[in-house]
Formats: sequence, C-alpha cells, structure tokens
Amino acid sequence: MQRFSAFSLVRRAFGGHRSWQAQWRTPEPKPAYDVVIVGAGGHGLATAYYLAKEHGIRNVAILDKGWLGGGNTGRNTTIIRSNYLFDESMGIYEHAVKLWEGLSRELNYNVMYSARGVLMLAHTVHDVQSFKRHVHANRLKGIDAEWLTAEQAKDFCPPLNISPNVRYPVVGATLQRRGGTARHDAVAWGYARGADALGVDIIQNCEVTGLRRGADGAVTGVETSRGFIGAKKIGVVAAGNTSVVMAMAGVRMPLESFPLQALVSEPVKPDFPCVVMSNTIHAYISQSDKGEMVIGAGTDAYTSYSQTGGLHIATHTLDAICELVPMYRRLRMLRNWGGIVDVTPDRSPIIGTTPVPGLFVNCGWGTGGFKATPGSGHVFAHTIATGSPHAINAGFTLDRFRDGFLIDEAAAAAVAH
Ligand SMILES: Cc1cc2nc3c(=O)[nH]c(=O)nc-3n(C[C@H](O)[C@H](O)[C@H](O)COP(=O)(O)OP(=O)(O)OC[C@H]3O[C@@H](n4cnc5c(N)ncnc54)[C@H](O)[C@@H]3O)c2cc1C
Repeated sequence: MQRFSAFSLVRRAFGGHRSWQAQWRTPEPKPAYDVVIVGAGGHGLATAYYLAKEHGIRNVAILDKGWLGGGNTGRNTTIIRSNYLFDESMGIYEHAVKLWEGLSRELNYNVMYSARGVLMLAHTVHDVQSFKRHVHANRLKGIDAEWLTAEQAKDFCPPLNISPNVRYPVVGATLQRRGGTARHDAVAWGYARGADALGVDIIQNCEVTGLRRGADGAVTGVETSRGFIGAKKIGVVAAGNTSVVMAMAGVRMPLESFPLQALVSEPVKPDFPCVVMSNTIHAYISQSDKGEMVIGAGTDAYTSYSQTGGLHIATHTLDAICELVPMYRRLRMLRNWGGIVDVTPDRSPIIGTTPVPGLFVNCGWGTGGFKATPGSGHVFAHTIATGSPHAINAGFTLDRFRDGFLIDEAAAAAVAH
C-alpha cells in the first residue's frame, strides 16, 4: 500500500501526480471465503479491517449491492460522542471515541476527526433532570461531561439564541468536549484502503439475494447477483436492510426501518464552533470544513425503504434551527437527502451471534451508529473470529428482546444521534 506523508506528496507533485495507485482493487469474487461480510458501510469495512489486522483472517470478502460507503455511512451528519446513559452504551461508544482519537494515524488516512465539542441543549425541567443524570453517570465511568448554564453554553457557542422569549428557551446544556465530527466518506475510504491492503476483497455492485444453509443448519454461503459465493462464516452489517437480509436465513429481527433526513446549506465563513443538538425540538447542527451548515432531522413517523423522507420533517427541523440560531434564517439550503435507519425497540444496537450457526449480525444502530464505527467493527471482528462476543458487546445480544435485559436508551434520551 502506498503510504501518505508530506514527503510522498512532495515527491509525487514533482512527478505530476502520475504514480498514485488506486486506493483499493476491484477483484472478481472467488468461489469461497472464510468470512463474507454483507454491507460495505463503515461498520462492515471496519469489521473486515480488524478481522484481517487483529485476527489474521484475510480470506475475507465484503459485498455491497451498491458502492462502498453509499448507505448511511455516506449520508449521516457525522456527530461523534460517548455521553450515553447505560453502562453498555458508554462502554462501546467510549471504546469508539478512543479509536477515533488515533484513527487517522492507524489508517494512514486523514479521517478529519475534529473534537470540537458536542453541546446538548436542555429546554425543559425534564431535560435538565435527565441531562444532569447523564453527566453524573458519564463522570462515574470516566467519560468527560459537563453541565453548563445557558450563559455558559452561549459563551461556548456564540451564535446560539438563549433569549427566554421563544417556544423552547435554552435553560442549560451538557458539553462533551471530546465529542465532535469526522469526515464520513474518509472513514469508509480509509477502512476500505486498509482492508484491501491486508488482502480483503471488496466487491461492489454485488447484491446478496439469498443466504444458503447446509443440512446441519449452518451457513454455507451467499447467493448474489454475481453468483453463489461460499462462506464458512457470514457477518450481516446491512443497516436499514438488515431485516430483509436476515429473513433470507429465516431469522426474524426486532427492527423497524425508517427514513432519516439531513440537509446542508450554502457554504459560509467559519462561525459555528461546535456541534449543537436539541432533542426536544429535534434538530442538530454543525459546520463542515467546507463551510456548509450540516443539519439533521428526526426520523419519519412511518416505516419505509425510500431514501428521501417527508418534506414536513425537514421544514420542522429548519423551524427549530431558525429558533436556535436566528441569523440562519438568511441561509439558503443546497440539498437534502435521506438514509434508511434500522431501529430496535430499545434504541440500542444488536452485535453478536444468531440462532443460525456461522451467521453473525451487527445492526440496530438507528440514528446514531456513525460515531460507533471503529468500536463496532473492532468488537464485531472479535465476535466473528472467536465465535463469542467481546466483553464490550456482550450485552448487545439479539436474545435481550426475548429475555428482557434491555439497554433502554430510548427511554433515557428519546434520540440517539
Ligand atoms: C441522515 C442521517 C443522519 C445521521 N446522523 C448521524 C450522526 O450524526 N451520528 C451518528 O453517529 N450516526 C448518524 N446516523 C446513523 C449512521 O449513519 C448509521 O448508524 C451508520 O452509518 C450505519 O453504518 P453501517 O455501516 O452499519 O450501514 P451503511 O453505511 O448503511 O451500510 C450498509 C450497507 O449494506 C448494503 N446492503 C444492504 N443490503 C444489501 C444486500 N442485500 N446485499 C449487499 N449489500 C447490501 C448497503 O448498500 C449499504 O452500503 C445518521 C444516519 C442518517 C441516515
């Protein structure tokens, strides 16, 4: 693999930039692999990377029905934080934040991780009580979390409107300074490049249409739009399409798929220093390195596989943004889009084994899985390689919906971006 460095940039600049190699190969599928990963989003690519790097399992194919990173990984608003309420959630998201902190160096690829701080606004007495509970729980786990008054929140984020004369005035906020953003495409490309260099075959435009099982019930491979591919183990990491893929093996998932939208404005000069989220009025905003304001909405009210979403959801979010930052009333929006998020009843992911031998699943990240990408791939690779979960994902079982050991972030936060 060609390494990026200041020296290599200068050397190739003098050569007219003609000696750069493709970042990854475009291989034909082999007849069989040790592991097939379904879904080349960030989680699938990270899983393949860590399988090869940490477990020496390199006879791996990762299949995607479209292009790598073209699912939710390339559609999200890139918020990263670990200030969740439950021990299991704090464990996995903090594991991810620690990996984010060294990821550009690990992958030799700039994923543009920017720890600019995430402010979560409180608007009601209930918000204040709930957010202070989060702050205390986070600190007990060694996760950085602060409670700010409305004035302190405005000092941290000067464009914020803290006037009391609005529908939902800001009455305080939590701050996680190590939270922030990263460049989503770069995350997919960095993991793809790293996995490819370790021998993983990334096969795009290859839709999985069936999961084949042997007489003993264990998986034997996948039917695809490019023919049958044998596999000793299969990891399904297909986000909003997970329940469709798992049904191919006869497994019914506790998932619902909803459209979730985002939109960006025209680019403006840097003026928004952090990430701001408001669960109550349901809007979140940050400024990209290109200067666009990146704005996220809530899920549609109805399940659907359309990657668009209802117009009223976007306009409701813009109403909220204009209330939070009135000067943005003059901004023009450039474009909007949607992704299909896979939501579990307790709004926590499922990462683990399934009733089918050799079949593993990583899903249910809903509206908030981008931030977990490195941690999720890391523990899922361990789960596939060893056949049993890593301590960090031990609680995120499929069985919890039968046994009742829920990790109820839905009740804790009502939103999980
Ligand atoms: C608008 C929006 C905003 C968001 N904002 C945030 C945020 O700010 N912070 C945050 O942490 N999270 C956020 N999320 C959630 C986050 O994007 C996802 O949880 C995360 O990216 C999921 O990654 P993934 O790799 O599991 O899925 P994906 O990136 O969706 O990858 C799944 C892949 O599976 C492929 N696939 C599906 N079916 C098949 C098949 N049959 N055969 C082969 N391939 C198949 C798809 O083509 C896709 O590429 C947001 C999501 C959206 C939509």
